[in-house]
Amino acid sequence: MAGPKFTPAQGLEAQLARMLAPAVRQIAVQVEVEAKRLAPPTKRWVTVGDDRVRPTHRKAQGQEVPGNLRFKLNSMDWDIKHRGLGPHTYMLEPLDQSSRAVANIKNCRCTAHLDPKGIARHITTGQPVITGKKVTVTVSVEAPLVVEAEVGTVYPGNLRADGTHFMARAAATVAARR
Ligand SMILES: [Zn+2]
Repeated sequence: MAGPKFTPAQGLEAQLARMLAPAVRQIAVQVEVEAKRLAPPTKRWVTVGDDRVRPTHRKAQGQEVPGNLRFKLNSMDWDIKHRGLGPHTYMLEPLDQSSRAVANIKNCRCTAHLDPKGIARHITTGQPVITGKKVTVTVSVEAPLVVEAEVGTVYPGNLRADGTHFMARAAATVAARR
């Protein structure tokens, strides 16, 4: 004997999705909080601003990059000729010897200013989007070089910047709580 056939009420799935949306968004907000905690700082190249600042550093004034990445400066001729550098020199901070520059770091008085929330302040959680029975909430971050901040990059001369994986780690941290 066949039992009664179950027929979902019209729009039930969409109704359930709407009921779940706030809970899904709460999880996304937890990911946002973790991502903000784990995001690397940004750093900004700052010169002393007088007329003795070399042109390659004057041009770098104000350049801002995520903390795990390198500043991009124009190379100096001496470094190109004697140190085998290409047109650009990549420095973690002023006076960075790992850049292999010599002329471009000699007597440098520049500094790097850290902004701990330089990336964190750009991390946001969107509103739930309901498509049929699916609820989607997106945590996103839009900032310069943010993809490289997450996954890392390689500069000419095989200078490697490791990724910080702050978004992936945030998602994994929240998932592990559940
Ligand atoms: Zn300098």
